Amino acid sequence: MKKTVSILGSTGSIGTQSLTVCRKMGYRVAALSAHSNWKLLEQQIREFSPRFAVLTDPDAAELLKEAVKDTSTAVLCGMDGILEVVSHTEQDTVINALMGVAGLLPTVKAIEAGNNVALANKETLVAGGKLVTELVKKKGVLLTPIDSEHSAIFQCLQGNERKSVKRLIITASGGPFYGKSREELKGIKKEQALKHPNWSMGAKITIDSSTLMNKGLEFIEAMWLFSMPPEKIDIVVHPQSIIHSMVEYEDGSVMAQMGAPDMMIPIQYALTWPHRYDSPAKRLDLLTCGELTFKKPDMQTFTCLADCIEAAKRGGLYPCVVNGANEEAVSLFLQDKIGYLDLFTAVHQALDHFQLGDYSTVEQVLEADRKARAFVRELFSQNGEQ
Ligand code: NDP
Ligand code: MG
Repeated sequence: MKKTVSILGSTGSIGTQSLTVCRKMGYRVAALSAHSNWKLLEQQIREFSPRFAVLTDPDAAELLKEAVKDTSTAVLCGMDGILEVVSHTEQDTVINALMGVAGLLPTVKAIEAGNNVALANKETLVAGGKLVTELVKKKGVLLTPIDSEHSAIFQCLQGNERKSVKRLIITASGGPFYGKSREELKGIKKEQALKHPNWSMGAKITIDSSTLMNKGLEFIEAMWLFSMPPEKIDIVVHPQSIIHSMVEYEDGSVMAQMGAPDMMIPIQYALTWPHRYDSPAKRLDLLTCGELTFKKPDMQTFTCLADCIEAAKRGGLYPCVVNGANEEAVSLFLQDKIGYLDLFTAVHQALDHFQLGDYSTVEQVLEADRKARAFVRELFSQNGEQ
């Protein structure tokens, strides 16, 4: 029988590429969701005929309802709508391509309902990794990574014993500003930070890539996905983004997954594992891709990475707080309300400010996230770039 998927965040960078994979694989689509982009969602509804479509923006939901009233798709509104569709069991897999910690509750509800989750939304694992991974075990569902580095590690682990893994090596492109000093980063505008050298992605992750916060989030994501302690994970800057990550084994072998930087590969693998099929992705040509180089990450300048690793070592709610602080700071930066260096300040000060324990409920995680955001808003309520 054909696979049935639902896609949260179907109008975004990962969401639209997921639909390309679904089109190519001939999958059925049970539900689609977006925040406010009802026009694109309408086009997607007309092509894929999902049973449900959800918009979290109520005004946009009204416009969509009117626009698709001639179809059989029911339009739902708000986070409640998302939670309703992920709780249905007609889909085999929920693709979570939402942006930010807003993805946590939908991931939890999807797993609780017994659905597999293909996860792009790394913030889910950063903020609530303990809850999510415990639930995955309890429910016996699959949680497959879409993030390219984690897909690479997942692929390098196939057919090998977990106990013989010595360390995970996550590669980082370094983003557009790698090699610059703190002084040179001052005054960077969002238009500059939104230009990633190798990948075309949503705004938030593109900013995170430029500060290396993205790599910090991925460090924590890897800990949860692969049950690895922080001391067994290394980060290497590899500006060409050809090797997507590696696994070193006890015997000295290092397995690397390579490919053109194209998210279609990890998205498809997350849905077809353990099988592989032809893909519309670009092909890697080793004779023309140029030299592959590797460097140590500069954590003195790009402190977000060091702060995430520190939060990972402290554990409990610390990763949630650095993530929440960063989400708020990126949102302020994208609204031109704070400067580029403030992104680093927000994460660093949030890590310093809070005394945090562990968590056992989603509500505790979301409360810590709210506090971290409020802290950042307060921090910049009077100041400009610090
Ligand atoms: P985009 O910003 O391109 O898309 C986000 C999607 O989520 C859109 O459909 C958007 O709807 C919707 N959305 C945004 N905010 C909310 C909200 N508060 N509630 C409900 N829906 C919301 O993001 P990306 O596709 O780039 O990234 C999605 C996730 O995947 C992130 O966690 C990112 O870190 C991760 N990821 C992305 C990669 C990439 O290549 N892009 C690579 C690896 C991981 P609307 O269009 O209406 O605003
Ligand atoms: Mg990644």
